[in-house]
Amino acid sequence: DTCRITPDMIDTLANKSFPPCMRQLNDTLRTTHHLKYNGRVIYGLFLKAAGLNLEDALFFWRSHFLKNMDVDTFDKRYSYGIRYNYGKEGKKTDFSPYGCIKIIMGNIAPGDVHGCPFKHSDVAILRQRLVAYKVSNQVIDEIMELVNKRHYQIACQRYWESIHGVPIDAGINHPNQFFEESQKFLN
Ligand code: SF4
Repeated sequence: DTCRITPDMIDTLANKSFPPCMRQLNDTLRTTHHLKYNGRVIYGLFLKAAGLNLEDALFFWRSHFLKNMDVDTFDKRYSYGIRYNYGKEGKKTDFSPYGCIKIIMGNIAPGDVHGCPFKHSDVAILRQRLVAYKVSNQVIDEIMELVNKRHYQIACQRYWESIHGVPIDAGINHPNQFFEESQKFLN
């Protein structure tokens, strides 16, 4: 995929085209200027696959984390992990972004924000978030019904359809697929 995104585009893209799991990570990063390890890996790999290059990724993470620390601390503790995601450190593996099943099946502790909101969020908080995302009450009810039946990916598909106002042929199986289908539709 030749698509490229830059740090200045991320907040806008997050609102328009990111799935709720990645939007939640971006919102947390924007408000706390930090993400825990799993969040950094999952969001970092998502952004890489969405077209953020290594140089821009370092700039993006640094611009947030420097609100809480100095450059030396950032370089020592966090730039390795970002370079590692891009296959530039350690085993030098070009890691793939996590798919829905992997995120849905992941272990989540209280306070973690790297899960699938349809699976891991408290239902009251999920409902609140969908209201904030301007999903209609009728669709929210449908989504909550699907969540109740543990059809998390279908709930996500319903969310995609509601924010884009059109049906989608394929089911949602990957956060990057959610994003790509959205960009295909919007551009
Ligand atoms: Fe993310 Fe997949 Fe959950 Fe949608 S179903 S929020 S893309 S993990």
